[in-house]
Amino acid sequence: MELNEKVAIVTGAGQGIGRAITLKLAANGANIVVVDVNLERANETVSHLESSERKAIALKADISSTKETEDMIEESVKKMGGIHILVNNAGITRDKLLLRMKEDDWDAVLDVNLKGVFNCTKAVIRHMSKQRYGRIVNIASIVGEMGNAGQANYAASKAGVIGFTKTVAREFAARNITCNAVAPGFIETAMTDSLPENAREELTKQIPMGRLGKPDDVAESVLFLVSDSSSYITGQVVNVNGGMYM
Ligand code: NAP
Repeated sequence: MELNEKVAIVTGAGQGIGRAITLKLAANGANIVVVDVNLERANETVSHLESSERKAIALKADISSTKETEDMIEESVKKMGGIHILVNNAGITRDKLLLRMKEDDWDAVLDVNLKGVFNCTKAVIRHMSKQRYGRIVNIASIVGEMGNAGQANYAASKAGVIGFTKTVAREFAARNITCNAVAPGFIETAMTDSLPENAREELTKQIPMGRLGKPDDVAESVLFLVSDSSSYITGQVVNVNGGMYM
Protein backbone atom coordinates (compact mmCIF):
# COMPACT_ATOMS: atom_id res chain seq x y z
CA MET A 1 0.00 0.00 0.00
CA GLU A 2 2.66 2.49 -1.06
CA LEU A 3 1.24 6.01 -0.91
CA ASN A 4 4.14 7.44 -2.91
CA GLU A 5 4.46 10.82 -1.24
CA LYS A 6 0.80 11.66 -1.74
CA VAL A 7 -0.35 14.53 0.48
CA ALA A 8 -2.96 13.68 3.11
CA ILE A 9 -4.89 16.03 5.37
CA VAL A 10 -6.08 14.43 8.60
CA THR A 11 -8.40 16.46 10.84
CA GLY A 12 -8.54 16.03 14.61
CA ALA A 13 -5.10 14.45 14.34
CA GLY A 14 -3.72 15.79 17.63
CA GLN A 15 -4.62 12.58 19.46
CA GLY A 16 -6.59 9.34 19.39
CA ILE A 17 -7.76 7.83 16.11
CA GLY A 18 -6.56 10.83 14.06
CA ARG A 19 -3.02 10.46 15.38
CA ALA A 20 -3.04 6.71 14.65
CA ILE A 21 -4.24 7.42 11.08
CA THR A 22 -1.50 10.03 10.63
CA LEU A 23 1.25 7.65 11.75
CA LYS A 24 -0.14 4.81 9.60
CA LEU A 25 -0.37 6.89 6.41
CA ALA A 26 3.09 8.38 6.98
CA ALA A 27 4.56 4.91 7.58
CA ASN A 28 3.14 3.96 4.19
CA GLY A 29 4.67 6.87 2.32
CA ALA A 30 2.29 9.85 2.64
CA ASN A 31 3.21 13.41 3.57
CA ILE A 32 0.75 14.72 6.13
CA VAL A 33 -1.00 17.91 7.18
CA VAL A 34 -1.91 17.37 10.83
CA VAL A 35 -4.97 19.53 11.57
CA ASP A 36 -6.40 20.12 15.02
CA VAL A 37 -8.17 22.85 16.95
CA ASN A 38 -5.40 22.32 19.53
CA LEU A 39 -2.09 23.31 17.88
CA GLU A 40 0.06 22.03 20.73
CA ARG A 41 -1.31 18.51 20.32
CA ALA A 42 -1.05 18.71 16.51
CA ASN A 43 2.65 19.61 16.95
CA GLU A 44 3.03 16.63 19.27
CA THR A 45 1.73 14.32 16.52
CA VAL A 46 4.19 15.89 14.05
CA SER A 47 7.02 15.31 16.54
CA HIS A 48 6.31 11.54 16.32
CA LEU A 49 7.31 11.77 12.65
CA GLU A 50 10.55 13.68 13.14
CA SER A 51 12.74 10.64 12.52
CA SER A 52 10.76 9.54 9.45
CA GLU A 53 11.52 10.63 5.91
CA ARG A 54 8.04 12.00 5.46
CA LYS A 55 7.12 15.66 5.52
CA ALA A 56 4.54 16.61 8.14
CA ILE A 57 3.23 20.01 9.19
CA ALA A 58 0.78 21.01 11.91
CA LEU A 59 -2.01 23.51 11.22
CA LYS A 60 -4.56 24.86 13.66
CA ALA A 61 -8.16 25.09 12.45
CA ASP A 62 -11.63 24.78 13.89
CA ILE A 63 -13.33 22.84 11.10
CA SER A 64 -16.77 24.12 12.11
CA SER A 65 -15.65 27.54 10.83
CA THR A 66 -15.91 27.79 7.03
CA LYS A 67 -13.32 30.59 6.88
CA GLU A 68 -10.75 28.83 9.10
CA THR A 69 -11.21 25.63 7.09
CA GLU A 70 -10.78 27.37 3.71
CA ASP A 71 -7.64 29.14 4.95
CA MET A 72 -6.24 25.86 6.32
CA ILE A 73 -6.80 24.05 3.00
CA GLU A 74 -5.20 26.90 1.01
CA GLU A 75 -2.19 26.91 3.32
CA SER A 76 -1.91 23.12 2.97
CA VAL A 77 -1.84 23.36 -0.82
CA LYS A 78 0.71 26.17 -0.69
CA LYS A 79 3.03 24.40 1.74
CA MET A 80 2.69 20.82 0.45
CA GLY A 81 2.11 21.42 -3.28
CA GLY A 82 -1.30 19.69 -3.54
CA ILE A 83 -3.82 17.44 -1.81
CA HIS A 84 -4.63 13.86 -2.70
CA ILE A 85 -6.20 12.45 0.46
CA LEU A 86 -8.61 13.91 3.00
CA VAL A 87 -9.49 12.07 6.20
CA ASN A 88 -12.38 13.78 7.97
CA ASN A 89 -11.74 12.49 11.47
CA ALA A 90 -12.34 15.36 13.93
CA GLY A 91 -15.44 14.83 16.03
CA ILE A 92 -16.90 15.63 19.45
CA THR A 93 -19.59 14.31 21.79
CA ARG A 94 -21.96 16.18 24.12
CA ASP A 95 -24.01 13.31 25.51
CA LYS A 96 -27.36 13.82 27.24
CA LEU A 97 -30.75 12.15 27.12
CA LEU A 98 -32.98 13.96 24.66
CA LEU A 99 -35.16 15.64 27.27
CA ARG A 100 -32.08 17.21 28.86
CA MET A 101 -30.27 18.01 25.63
CA LYS A 102 -29.88 21.76 25.08
CA GLU A 103 -29.90 23.53 21.74
CA ASP A 104 -26.20 24.28 22.34
CA ASP A 105 -25.42 20.57 22.73
CA TRP A 106 -27.16 19.83 19.45
CA ASP A 107 -25.55 22.72 17.54
CA ALA A 108 -22.00 22.11 18.82
CA VAL A 109 -22.01 18.45 17.77
CA LEU A 110 -23.68 19.01 14.40
CA ASP A 111 -21.35 21.97 13.67
CA VAL A 112 -18.16 19.96 14.16
CA ASN A 113 -19.20 16.45 13.12
CA LEU A 114 -21.34 17.26 10.08
CA LYS A 115 -20.77 20.85 8.98
CA GLY A 116 -17.03 20.34 9.58
CA VAL A 117 -17.04 17.41 7.15
CA PHE A 118 -18.92 19.53 4.59
CA ASN A 119 -16.48 22.45 5.06
CA CYS A 120 -13.34 20.34 4.60
CA THR A 121 -14.70 18.30 1.70
CA LYS A 122 -15.98 21.34 -0.19
CA ALA A 123 -12.65 23.13 0.23
CA VAL A 124 -10.55 20.19 -1.11
CA ILE A 125 -12.83 18.90 -3.82
CA ARG A 126 -11.97 21.67 -6.30
CA HIS A 127 -8.29 20.69 -6.14
CA MET A 128 -9.08 16.97 -6.40
CA SER A 129 -11.46 17.55 -9.31
CA LYS A 130 -8.87 19.50 -11.26
CA GLN A 131 -6.23 16.79 -10.81
CA ARG A 132 -8.82 14.04 -11.45
CA TYR A 133 -7.71 12.14 -8.36
CA GLY A 134 -8.83 12.08 -4.77
CA ARG A 135 -9.44 9.80 -1.81
CA ILE A 136 -11.80 10.95 0.93
CA VAL A 137 -12.51 8.93 4.07
CA ASN A 138 -15.03 10.13 6.62
CA ILE A 139 -14.97 8.74 10.14
CA ALA A 140 -18.60 8.00 11.02
CA SER A 141 -19.63 5.76 13.93
CA ILE A 142 -21.53 2.60 14.81
CA VAL A 143 -23.86 4.98 16.66
CA GLY A 144 -24.89 6.58 13.35
CA GLU A 145 -26.10 3.15 12.21
CA MET A 146 -27.73 1.71 15.32
CA GLY A 147 -28.50 4.73 17.55
CA ASN A 148 -27.49 5.04 21.20
CA ALA A 149 -29.43 6.39 24.18
CA GLY A 150 -27.92 9.72 25.25
CA GLN A 151 -26.42 10.48 21.84
CA ALA A 152 -29.25 11.85 19.67
CA ASN A 153 -27.03 14.72 18.48
CA TYR A 154 -24.00 12.49 17.82
CA ALA A 155 -26.05 9.72 16.14
CA ALA A 156 -27.77 12.25 13.86
CA SER A 157 -24.42 13.82 12.93
CA LYS A 158 -22.82 10.46 12.09
CA ALA A 159 -25.87 9.22 10.14
CA GLY A 160 -25.61 12.51 8.26
CA VAL A 161 -21.94 11.81 7.51
CA ILE A 162 -22.93 8.47 5.95
CA GLY A 163 -25.54 10.12 3.68
CA PHE A 164 -23.04 12.84 2.77
CA THR A 165 -20.39 10.20 1.95
CA LYS A 166 -22.69 8.36 -0.49
CA THR A 167 -23.68 11.59 -2.21
CA VAL A 168 -20.10 12.83 -2.67
CA ALA A 169 -19.21 9.36 -3.98
CA ARG A 170 -21.92 9.64 -6.66
CA GLU A 171 -21.14 13.24 -7.61
CA PHE A 172 -17.38 12.74 -8.04
CA ALA A 173 -16.91 9.12 -9.16
CA ALA A 174 -16.37 10.22 -12.76
CA ARG A 175 -13.52 12.45 -11.59
CA ASN A 176 -11.69 9.49 -10.06
CA ILE A 177 -12.45 10.67 -6.54
CA THR A 178 -13.62 7.99 -4.13
CA CYS A 179 -15.45 8.81 -0.91
CA ASN A 180 -16.01 6.18 1.76
CA ALA A 181 -16.85 6.09 5.45
CA VAL A 182 -15.34 4.07 8.26
CA ALA A 183 -17.74 3.41 11.12
CA PRO A 184 -15.80 2.45 14.25
CA GLY A 185 -17.45 0.69 17.16
CA PHE A 186 -16.14 1.59 20.61
CA ILE A 187 -12.44 2.45 20.46
CA GLU A 188 -10.01 3.09 23.31
CA THR A 189 -9.36 6.86 23.15
CA ALA A 190 -9.99 9.98 25.26
CA MET A 191 -13.58 9.87 23.96
CA THR A 192 -14.26 6.56 25.72
CA ASP A 193 -11.85 7.00 28.68
CA SER A 194 -14.56 8.56 30.79
CA LEU A 195 -16.80 5.43 30.64
CA PRO A 196 -17.27 4.08 34.17
CA GLU A 197 -15.84 0.58 34.69
CA ASN A 198 -19.28 -1.10 34.95
CA ALA A 199 -20.47 0.56 31.72
CA ARG A 200 -17.29 -0.60 29.99
CA GLU A 201 -17.88 -4.17 31.19
CA GLU A 202 -21.49 -4.10 29.94
CA LEU A 203 -20.35 -2.70 26.61
CA THR A 204 -17.65 -5.34 26.20
CA LYS A 205 -20.27 -8.06 26.67
CA GLN A 206 -22.03 -6.76 23.54
CA ILE A 207 -18.88 -7.05 21.41
CA PRO A 208 -18.46 -10.55 19.90
CA MET A 209 -14.68 -10.07 19.84
CA GLY A 210 -14.76 -9.32 23.57
CA ARG A 211 -12.73 -6.11 23.58
CA LEU A 212 -12.90 -2.45 22.66
CA GLY A 213 -11.09 -1.52 19.45
CA LYS A 214 -7.71 0.20 19.21
CA PRO A 215 -7.06 3.37 17.18
CA ASP A 216 -4.80 1.27 14.96
CA ASP A 217 -7.72 -1.03 14.05
CA VAL A 218 -9.41 2.02 12.50
CA ALA A 219 -6.20 3.34 10.91
CA GLU A 220 -5.66 0.04 9.02
CA SER A 221 -9.02 0.33 7.27
CA VAL A 222 -8.41 3.99 6.44
CA LEU A 223 -5.05 3.04 4.88
CA PHE A 224 -6.81 0.49 2.66
CA LEU A 225 -9.45 3.03 1.55
CA VAL A 226 -6.90 5.69 0.57
CA SER A 227 -4.60 3.24 -1.22
CA ASP A 228 -4.76 2.07 -4.83
CA SER A 229 -5.91 -1.35 -3.56
CA SER A 230 -9.40 0.13 -3.12
CA SER A 231 -9.68 2.16 -6.34
CA TYR A 232 -13.03 0.52 -7.35
CA ILE A 233 -14.63 1.00 -3.91
CA THR A 234 -16.71 4.11 -3.32
CA GLY A 235 -19.77 5.14 -1.30
CA GLN A 236 -19.25 2.32 1.21
CA VAL A 237 -19.34 2.16 4.97
CA VAL A 238 -16.64 -0.06 6.45
CA ASN A 239 -17.59 -1.25 9.93
CA VAL A 240 -14.68 -1.64 12.35
CA ASN A 241 -16.51 -2.79 15.46
CA GLY A 242 -15.46 -6.28 16.56
CA GLY A 243 -18.79 -7.61 15.27
CA MET A 244 -20.94 -5.43 17.55
CA TYR A 245 -23.15 -4.32 14.62
CA MET A 246 -23.52 -6.43 11.48
P1 NAP B 1 -10.59 12.38 20.42
O1 NAP B 1 -9.58 11.54 21.11
O2 NAP B 1 -11.49 13.25 21.22
O3 NAP B 1 -9.84 13.26 19.31
C1 NAP B 1 -10.52 14.14 18.47
C2 NAP B 1 -9.60 15.29 18.11
O4 NAP B 1 -10.35 16.21 17.29
C3 NAP B 1 -9.14 16.08 19.34
O5 NAP B 1 -7.76 16.38 19.25
C4 NAP B 1 -10.00 17.32 19.27
O6 NAP B 1 -9.43 18.45 19.91
C5 NAP B 1 -10.12 17.52 17.78
N1 NAP B 1 -11.22 18.42 17.45
C6 NAP B 1 -12.37 18.58 18.15
N2 NAP B 1 -13.12 19.53 17.60
C7 NAP B 1 -12.42 20.01 16.53
C8 NAP B 1 -12.67 21.03 15.58
N3 NAP B 1 -13.77 21.78 15.64
N4 NAP B 1 -11.75 21.27 14.63
C9 NAP B 1 -10.60 20.54 14.59
N5 NAP B 1 -10.30 19.58 15.48
C10 NAP B 1 -11.21 19.31 16.44
O7 NAP B 1 -11.56 11.48 19.52
P2 NAP B 1 -11.33 10.02 18.90
O8 NAP B 1 -11.91 9.04 19.82
O9 NAP B 1 -9.95 9.87 18.39
O10 NAP B 1 -12.37 10.12 17.66
C11 NAP B 1 -11.97 10.47 16.34
C12 NAP B 1 -13.18 10.28 15.43
O11 NAP B 1 -13.66 8.94 15.52
C13 NAP B 1 -14.36 11.18 15.79
O12 NAP B 1 -15.01 11.61 14.61
C14 NAP B 1 -15.27 10.26 16.57
O13 NAP B 1 -16.60 10.67 16.52
C15 NAP B 1 -15.04 8.96 15.83
N6 NAP B 1 -15.38 7.77 16.61
C16 NAP B 1 -14.75 7.51 17.80
C17 NAP B 1 -15.09 6.37 18.50
C18 NAP B 1 -14.44 6.00 19.81
O14 NAP B 1 -14.93 5.06 20.45
N7 NAP B 1 -13.40 6.68 20.25
C19 NAP B 1 -16.09 5.51 18.00
C20 NAP B 1 -16.70 5.81 16.79
C21 NAP B 1 -16.33 6.94 16.10
P3 NAP B 1 -9.96 18.82 21.42
O15 NAP B 1 -9.68 17.61 22.25
O16 NAP B 1 -9.15 20.02 21.78
O17 NAP B 1 -11.43 19.09 21.29
